[in-house]
Amino acid sequence: MTVPHITLNDGHRIPQLGFGVFRVDPAETERIVGEALEAGYRHIDTAAVYGNEEGVGRAIASSGIPRDELFVTTKLWNSEQGRDTARPALEASLERLGLDHVDLYLIHWPRPDLDRYVETWQALASLRDAGLTRSIGVSNFTIAYLQRLLDETGVVPAVNQVELHPAFAQRELRAFQEPLGIHTEAWGPLGQGKYDLLAEKAVADAAAAHGATPAQVVIRWHLQQGIIVFPKSSTRDRIVENFDVFGFELTDAEMAAIDGLDRGQRVGADPETATF
Ligand code: NAD
Repeated sequence: MTVPHITLNDGHRIPQLGFGVFRVDPAETERIVGEALEAGYRHIDTAAVYGNEEGVGRAIASSGIPRDELFVTTKLWNSEQGRDTARPALEASLERLGLDHVDLYLIHWPRPDLDRYVETWQALASLRDAGLTRSIGVSNFTIAYLQRLLDETGVVPAVNQVELHPAFAQRELRAFQEPLGIHTEAWGPLGQGKYDLLAEKAVADAAAAHGATPAQVVIRWHLQQGIIVFPKSSTRDRIVENFDVFGFELTDAEMAAIDGLDRGQRVGADPETATF
């Protein structure tokens, strides 16, 4: 199974389909990420705040997969935002991961109330220049926050990782990002299991037509729009199922019907008001 790669605006390449580990139990992470690597995933999305970077690192080490065949993302937690705090935070993540660099480092949330994301972004640019991360990006940034980064630093993020699923499709944000070459990464691609995808007729119809599962249909909906996606599961069968999405293609009509499910329904926090 060959996963398509996307070339980021800094020239680095990212596997378009990966494996997310939010809420993967730290005690189980090594085994679960090991299963994902065995299933064929080569892109892992973690974060310092998930508390499971050690498990990700152990799974990578014991997999025997060459480092340059893997793409590892981690994220700077909100309490570590700042000009001088980002570097020690990334060094601590690298220590836990057992790596000398990550492929992508993200500001996890903008936290506009702190008003430190601009200086933090400058710090991330230095970390990239120092080789501690290949690419840098942001997460949960709105158009206004992205615009401020561009205006005040001139450094364009490689990606913006945001909540994105059929009920919350982020069209306006994507339209803003595209001409700037900021790639969209989807978190919560399956709506975090918080709404029933099978109950959505457009998804159920496409699943029936292709002999696929609702989750596979929704992952294809992301992939066919060029979105980078990393569904999470702690269950081996679903880990395999969510990777087995390259044997069918949704038609234009099926894509349009799923597009019609967009109703501004978040399943997670609003970045403008989140204060965790
Ligand atoms: P997700 O949409 O991937 O949902 C995961 C849940 O969907 C599972 O717990 C399970 O309940 C269900 N599921 C998974 N596979 C299924 C299948 N085949 N059939 C039926 N149900 C299935 O949600 P997520 O984990 O929040 O998002 C994916 C990744 O995005 C995370 O693991 C993490 O890496 C990242 N993330 C980032 C942020 C951020 O702020 N940057 C926030 C949340 C998640």
